[in-house]
Amino acid sequence: MAHIKVKTAEDILDKTYKVLDKGFVRLVDYMGGDARIVQAARVSYGGGTKSVRQDKALIDYLLRNKHTSPFEQVILTFHVKMPVFVARQWIRHRTARLNEISGRYSVMSDEFYLPNENEIRTQSKDNKQGSSKEEIDPELAKKVIGLLNKEQTGQYENYQGLLTDDIARELARINLPLSLYTEMYWQIDLHNLFHFLKLRMDGHAQYEIRVYGEVMAKIVKAVSPLAYSAFEEHILYGQRFSQDELELILASLDKEKFASLLEKAELRKTRKQELLTKLNLKDAL
Ligand SMILES: Cc1cc2nc3c(=O)[nH]c(=O)nc-3n(C[C@H](O)[C@H](O)[C@H](O)COP(=O)(O)OP(=O)(O)OC[C@H]3O[C@@H](n4cnc5c(N)ncnc54)[C@H](O)[C@@H]3O)c2cc1C
Repeated sequence: MAHIKVKTAEDILDKTYKVLDKGFVRLVDYMGGDARIVQAARVSYGGGTKSVRQDKALIDYLLRNKHTSPFEQVILTFHVKMPVFVARQWIRHRTARLNEISGRYSVMSDEFYLPNENEIRTQSKDNKQGSSKEEIDPELAKKVIGLLNKEQTGQYENYQGLLTDDIARELARINLPLSLYTEMYWQIDLHNLFHFLKLRMDGHAQYEIRVYGEVMAKIVKAVSPLAYSAFEEHILYGQRFSQDELELILASLDKEKFASLLEKAELRKTRKQELLTKLNLKDAL
């Protein structure tokens, strides 16, 4: 079970997935996969992988019960290129390791994020941190793109001018805008990558980072398909309720109908028991 190779991951190694207008995500390397998760989980009693069905059930069990350490045994390394304002959100995820292009060492390329017309959004009325889904006047969208483009060009010309005057690269770059593209190698384990994806694929995350999350999700699916499917089931499309929310739901629940639906549901017996425990209904039905 040393050095696990996953065919679907091998197939996409080094493949460039384009994101935004000039960005990309590439899977540079990976260590482990579903087999490593079950191997690590079963270490305590010396077992390895079993049938796919049993492995799937074990991974699902581990994930939904927050037995997180086996997922930390899977590591993914990405090469990513994104605008600086996306990178600033990205690097808040401290559980990753990264190495970024140095603007002190290298001359930064003339590459800036210029949104498409349909990605020009107005301010949301109900979310101070978000944008509205309302359609924008195409003339206004054109005006915004024209202005962004003009400023980007001007700032890059000034940057080149300073370099020509032999001003140090570390100083010449300081007025370059947040739309400038940067690149990094970014390495993270699967447990923390799921946390990243949950936050950054969410509707509250900014569109420009969400699109990276969506591409990385496809890559994770190739590396660890069973774990990714459990992540979708229990984290990505699952919900957590507060005590008062739960009380409200329970107060309005038709318990007889619920019991009959639960009996017919295609859930394993343990999942049914877990659901009843979660809802505090174990003795009530
Ligand atoms: C929609 C959205 C809006 C946001 N808005 C803002 C904002 O306005 N301003 C802002 O500053 N940030 C903002 N953030 C960033 C956010 O607060 C987190 O910093 C970011 O999402 C990283 O999450 P994390 O700390 O859980 O991840 P990680 O850093 O990967 O950490 C994962 C887990 O490990 C723990 N951990 C890691 N390192 C440490 C440590 N050194 N000490 C203690 N615990 C640690 C954390 O508690 C966390 O649960 C926003 C994020 C999102 C998704």
